[in-house]
Amino acid sequence: MQSISCASTRASTPFLDFPLPESPDSLSRFDRSGTPFGQVRYSKAALTGAAAAPADASTGGAAVGLGKNRDTPPCNPRQYRPYVRQATAQRLVSGYWSNEGKNLRGSSVAGCGRWKAYGSALIAQIVVEGGQARMSGHFICGCNWTCEMCARATVARNRSWLRGALFPALKEHGKSGSLVTLTLAHSYDVDWAIPVAALKAAYGLFDKRMAKVYKKAGSVGKFKAFEVTIGRNGIHPHFHILVTHDDDADLVAMEDAMREAWYKAVIEVGGRCSDRGFDFRPNRLNDYAAKIEASHELSSQSTKQGRKNGKSLSQTLDAAGRGDLKAGAEWQRAIEALGSTNRFHAGNLAKNLDILTPSEWDDGAGDVEEVGLDDPEQPLIIEYSFEDHLKATHPSLGRPGLAMILRAAARGGQAKVCLMVDALCRYSDSKRVPTWAPTSELSALDSEIINIAKLRPLAREEVGEYLRVTRVLAAVK
Ligand SMILES: [Zn+2]
Repeated sequence: MQSISCASTRASTPFLDFPLPESPDSLSRFDRSGTPFGQVRYSKAALTGAAAAPADASTGGAAVGLGKNRDTPPCNPRQYRPYVRQATAQRLVSGYWSNEGKNLRGSSVAGCGRWKAYGSALIAQIVVEGGQARMSGHFICGCNWTCEMCARATVARNRSWLRGALFPALKEHGKSGSLVTLTLAHSYDVDWAIPVAALKAAYGLFDKRMAKVYKKAGSVGKFKAFEVTIGRNGIHPHFHILVTHDDDADLVAMEDAMREAWYKAVIEVGGRCSDRGFDFRPNRLNDYAAKIEASHELSSQSTKQGRKNGKSLSQTLDAAGRGDLKAGAEWQRAIEALGSTNRFHAGNLAKNLDILTPSEWDDGAGDVEEVGLDDPEQPLIIEYSFEDHLKATHPSLGRPGLAMILRAAARGGQAKVCLMVDALCRYSDSKRVPTWAPTSELSALDSEIINIAKLRPLAREEVGEYLRVTRVLAAVK
């Protein structure tokens, strides 16, 4: 057990706020027993993965902006579910690497909020401000498929961009938009990469052929969101697309042309399509309510789908977190199938309308800074051993350590953090969870190896180097 040194200092840096997740969650299953090690159960088999494999910090689509940001989203005391999902994802990518000997794309979720950002001091640091806590100066993975925290930030930014930048600009230009959903038939017992690849290929053909139709309708571009759910028939990949057009465009003609082109394209790539493969909802930007609904349809993390089409990835993580091994395996299978699929794509919209791109869109940042100047309350900085932080948040621990530490910080400052980190480390010791190599270079973010990891999947021994882990697997097996 390492000794924990907590030091409290005051800083005056204004920190930017992240948009909050939509639904309040609770950490009730940790609260119930009154101890940090409440009632979460993970199966032994699911815990065999100990070390994680960083594949590519920019995987899972556009990792826009987040790579530069070194503060995790703040932790609302009532909203822990995202952190629990993140911890489950960390365990699943680790388990995949352990079993398969290779990385899933987006495996760097294992270090999100845990490792230090390149160049940062090797000490764990929490900032508590306005009742919310976040890790500061730590690595942010930016994975839009595997990491619940990073995905939420990306989804929120895209949604904010739709409402705050795109929709007003369209109105100004006398344009409207219609929502199109494209999908194809799929079955459980095939390689899930097949329907994903077929959908993308069919879209490529479809989009090329639609160019004339779009032009005739006065389109200035499309916003495209790729989504998946997991259901009885396996992975269900689909596109939600906002097609822009003139206010008075002939939408009946456009819908007919699109429907025909979509069915044709699906057959050409060897897919099948039922009536439900194409859905067209005209003029979805007519009033405020429609705009809210459209932006929600185009960018949501976990609240929208999941009733008739199966579970969202987040819901699958929830099930895996409760010990459902099949759900865990399905999540891994889905992430494997998604590969480097982009989640959002705004094409030429920003250029054509002369507005910021979604990645440049920094919602309300200026406002926060102004508030910061007026607000006499300074953020509380809590620091403790980085080595203990890695240990207390280790994926193989089977606890959402990050959530527990941040909750402790928000509720009880440094004293509670020390108690919590200490308790988690003792728990780790009791489970003989492998420890991290205590070298002077604990920063996992060596720039060279990061660059290699962006170009290709890391080999087994490189992953070890990347993570500065010593023989973790040998210790576990
Ligand atoms: Zn992340």
